[in-house]
Amino acid sequence: MGLVVQKYGGSSVADAEGIKRVAKRIVEAKQNGHQVVAVVSAMGDTTDELIDLAEQVSPMPAGRELDMLLTAGERISMALLAMAIKKLGHEAQSFTGSQAGVITDSVHNKARIIDVTPGRLKTSVDEGNIAIVAGFQGVSQDTKDITTLGRGGSDTTAVALAAALDADVCEIYTDVDGVFTADPRVVKKARKIDWISFEDMLELAASGSKVLLHRCVEYARRYNIPIHVRSSFSGLQGTWVSSEPIVQKTQAQGEKQVEQALISGVAHDTSEAKVTVVGVPDKPGEAASIFRTIADAELNIDMVVQNVSAASTGLTDISFTLPKTDGRKAIDALEKNKAGIGFDSLRYDDQIGKISLVGAGMKTNPGVTADFFGALSDAGVNIELISTSEIRISVVTRADDVPEAVRAVHSAFGLDSDSDEAVVYGGTGR
Ligand code: ADP
Ligand code: ASP
Ligand code: MG
Repeated sequence: MGLVVQKYGGSSVADAEGIKRVAKRIVEAKQNGHQVVAVVSAMGDTTDELIDLAEQVSPMPAGRELDMLLTAGERISMALLAMAIKKLGHEAQSFTGSQAGVITDSVHNKARIIDVTPGRLKTSVDEGNIAIVAGFQGVSQDTKDITTLGRGGSDTTAVALAAALDADVCEIYTDVDGVFTADPRVVKKARKIDWISFEDMLELAASGSKVLLHRCVEYARRYNIPIHVRSSFSGLQGTWVSSEPIVQKTQAQGEKQVEQALISGVAHDTSEAKVTVVGVPDKPGEAASIFRTIADAELNIDMVVQNVSAASTGLTDISFTLPKTDGRKAIDALEKNKAGIGFDSLRYDDQIGKISLVGAGMKTNPGVTADFFGALSDAGVNIELISTSEIRISVVTRADDVPEAVRAVHSAFGLDSDSDEAVVYGGTGR
């Protein structure tokens, strides 16, 4: 019996009852002979509420102070959880990210973990304690300031600690029974996936399936840490995310290896906006100067398209997508460099959504792209941008069309389950 790292998301610790329920689960793991390190998120929608509060005080709050504020959310849950475990008669100690040895770079609001030195956690569990760690936070190696890892970052904390502590498994407890073929809040007939490869999970996460954060899956793949995504509200087996397929016991056949599905699922994302740079001279170096400006502002972009230039004017338009939360900064940076880049105007559209189909089977199956576009056309959905990778096709549409489009694609690829509807146990979906 080795060490397990368990992570409980905000919906699992949304109120005092939730915290007591989670405390019981953690104690059960300890009683089964494991050493346990539990990572917690802020209660319910606390992080969103703190961001709203900050924006009421200042529309563009300083990154350092926002991190100071947001990390308070996880401190509340870690202390309450430690209290609840002690009440059950077991020893527990809570640790901030900094105390747990989560060392990051100094980029506020989306810091990257650069080292983990979990000495205090190791000592604590070796002494027989359950260690509780505040997720989503760390400390900058250079500035010694408190940082946060970006929204959903507790998943990354958990996997980083699992790697540093050489844990057997990282369990991610959430408000659904695992990773499904689509978001169960949108597709009632979504199917639970028993096993999914790191590669397919990376694409789903990068395409907006927020059940696991992209960086967390990247980290797990790099250190080969198997992740078990499951519900903190039920006792069911969840989804294994790992490099090798799992072996399942079935009554009929004894043991069988779970096969990789051709198509893993459909992801959607309505958190991005589209910026269009209008009237860009159609000559070498223009795209470079636009995206250098964006990169210098430390902003990541997703999709890019350039229109065919109108021969009469020699001008073209370039559109790109990026998280809505970075929209303001991107517009400001481009406006500042308007003379240098030489464009006419900027357009900003935050009413877009992205739908992606993911599956390794696409590589060898030529009909997939046609079927995907066919399903969207049957649903009357207009496509604005397209991008593909070897195992993913994504389109941008109007945000309003997203739920219908996701359901249409899910059905068209035969992913609908014919048994139980997917259960959502908690959370507000915010
Ligand atoms: P937590 O608070 O536990 O971190 P999140 O809200 O971040 O939980 O992630 C869980 C949610 O992810 C689910 O409630 C579900 O709505 C959403 N989700 C999106 N895509 C999927 C998917 N493919 N499978 C399961 N859940 C998904
Ligand atoms: N509380 C943070 C958030 O809401 C981190 C997390 O939940 O993983 O983004
Ligand atoms: Mg999450």
